[in-house]
Amino acid sequence: MKKNLIAQSTLLILIAFFTINCNTSTQNSTTKNAEFGIVIHGGAGTILKENLSDSLEKAYHSKLQEALNAGHSILEKGGTSIDAVQAAIMIMENSPLFNAGKGAVFTNAGTNELDASFMDGSTLNAGAVGGVTIVKNPITAARAVMEKSDHVMLSGEGANQFAILQKLDTVDNSYFYTERRFKSLQKIKNSETGSSKLLSEHNDYKFGTVGAAALDKSGNLAAGTSTGGMTNKKYGRIGDSPIIGAGTYANNATCAISCTGHGEFFIRYAVAHDVSALMEYKNMTLEAAGNEVINNKLVKVEGSGGLISIDKNGNVSMPFNTAGMYRGYMLDNKEAKTFIFK
Ligand code: ASP
Repeated sequence: MKKNLIAQSTLLILIAFFTINCNTSTQNSTTKNAEFGIVIHGGAGTILKENLSDSLEKAYHSKLQEALNAGHSILEKGGTSIDAVQAAIMIMENSPLFNAGKGAVFTNAGTNELDASFMDGSTLNAGAVGGVTIVKNPITAARAVMEKSDHVMLSGEGANQFAILQKLDTVDNSYFYTERRFKSLQKIKNSETGSSKLLSEHNDYKFGTVGAAALDKSGNLAAGTSTGGMTNKKYGRIGDSPIIGAGTYANNATCAISCTGHGEFFIRYAVAHDVSALMEYKNMTLEAAGNEVINNKLVKVEGSGGLISIDKNGNVSMPFNTAGMYRGYMLDNKEAKTFIFK
């Protein structure tokens, strides 16, 4: 009789355990996946295998690896997530492969105007620049705004002047010229039907913004994003990349995120903050929250793009609704993983 009772209660406990576990599969857990790590992207878009030569594909993988290694070696030595994010992004900004820094796309006027943002998840401090034209590494300007000014966002000539005062590396706007991006501008201009068209509507358009998010050994999260924006942009257009809550967000209570895609949608849907909010208010996992925003909310309105993210427990998620997204991550002392296609 007693034995029967024990068996029955054990069964009940087991049923309760499995029920709770099933119900919480999309719910946040406290289990640590990694003590530290970094996740990066080099843009999402119509990236198809048939359009990418083997050598170019190799070049993307190796640049992503280089960026991951740079950020990871900082984290491994006990450095901050902020330093790791900056190091990874600067490597991609200095490469003509990506639409940021050296490889930035052209505006309708044939110039390059760059945007970047940075957020520190431990303090919720943030900094951003929009439309800078002479800052070699816009991510350094975003960080300077965060750490050395009373403001969150500076734009245009004022942001250029601030960068000079902060003694950041500056260059002539012609530094950003690359033949490939200039040709893209000519191509879209030639195909324009009169109305202002962004290259997102163009078949061979590839986004190419860069971003990084990291968790350091002290449990601090940080994220940053840098971009040339969208080819053929006009009138000082600024996208989501330098907008905190849209293109970038970090909060030690939830996660760190950097987005890439059609900026107008990412601004309207406050994408980066929405993912964090779903985790905070609905207790969703990083993966479930990111999928909800990228593969449900944005898909419904044809907002194309993706994001990379890492949470406070070292979980990584990289959802995107385009054909491809240059991306990768490196956790603890495990090897770097990089990907391009679905
Ligand atoms: N989100 C960027 C923008 O709209 C573009 C991109 O991610 O490639 O400016």
